[in-house]
Amino acid sequence: MRADLHIHTVASDGTWTPQEVVEHVRAADIGLFAVADHDTVEGALAVADIVRRTPNAPALLLAVEISTLLDGALVHILGYGIHPDHPSLNDLLRSNRARLEWVNDETLRRMARAGYPVDLEAYAAYQNDPRRGGWKGLNFLIDAGLCRDVQDFFERIFVDPVRPPEPEFPHPAEAVARIREAGGVPVLAHPGGSLSRFGPIEEALAAFLEFGIAGVECYTPYHSPEMTARCQAFCARHGLLVTGGSDCHGEFGGRSLGIPPVTVDDLRLGPLEGLFVTAENAEDIGKSQKTRRT
Ligand SMILES: [Zn+2]
Ligand SMILES: [Zn+2]
Repeated sequence: MRADLHIHTVASDGTWTPQEVVEHVRAADIGLFAVADHDTVEGALAVADIVRRTPNAPALLLAVEISTLLDGALVHILGYGIHPDHPSLNDLLRSNRARLEWVNDETLRRMARAGYPVDLEAYAAYQNDPRRGGWKGLNFLIDAGLCRDVQDFFERIFVDPVRPPEPEFPHPAEAVARIREAGGVPVLAHPGGSLSRFGPIEEALAAFLEFGIAGVECYTPYHSPEMTARCQAFCARHGLLVTGGSDCHGEFGGRSLGIPPVTVDDLRLGPLEGLFVTAENAEDIGKSQKTRRT
C-alpha cells in the first residue's frame, strides 16, 4: 500500500482544498495519507470529516507541521495523531500563526523602507486567495508586479536587508512536549533539508533524540538516497519510527504527491497504526482520543 504522510492544503500554503486532497490521494492510489499544514489543524480536520463520510476512503493520520527555532534556524516538527482540540497545543499553534503573519507583514514593511514601491495600505486591504497557494505577501507582490514567483521571492527579495529575523518560534523540545500532551507522536520533518548547518546528520539527529522526538521523516524529496539511508540507520539504532512524505503543496512549490514513492512496508509506524482515521473506525478514534486526553 502506498503512503504519503506529508501533504498541505489551502489551510496553510497549499493549493488544494480538503476535498481535492482526498481526490488526488485516491487518484494516486495512496492508501494511507496525512495532512500536515503549517501550524494549523483546520485542513486536516476538514479532510478527516470527508474521510469519515466516504466509504473506502484512504486511511488518514491527523497531523500538523509545527514551526520551531533551534539556534536561529527554522526546524519543522510533525505531530501525528494529535488530538486536534487539545488546549496547550492550540495555544502554541495560535501564537505560531501570529508569528508567521508577522514575518509576512514585516517583509513588506522592510521592502517599503528599502525603496521598493510597495503600497502598504493596498497590502493591508488585500484579500488573498488561498487557492493560489503561497501566502498573502507573496501573492500581493506578484499581483503588484514586484515579484515573478516564489523562487524569485526567495532569491531576489527575501534577502538582506528585507528579510526579517526568524520570529521567536518555540524550541523543538517544547513543540515535542505539546504534541505528546495532545496524545500525538512527534516526528522530525525533512532533517536533511533543515539541519545541514548542524554538522553530520547523525550528530544533528542525536540532539533531537534528547528533545524527545519519536521518529524521523526519512523519506522526503529533500533527501538523497544516501541521506535517507543514514536517517534510517539512525532510527534503527535508536528505536525511532520511520515516516515519509512528499511535502506536496498541490500546484504550489513544485513537489508532487506520492514522491518519493513510499509504501507502508518502507515505514515503521509503531503506535501510529492505532491512530488512523477511516470511514469504518470514525467513532472508535473519537473515543480513544478522548480517553488518551484524560
Ligand atoms: Zn517543512
Ligand atoms: Zn511541509
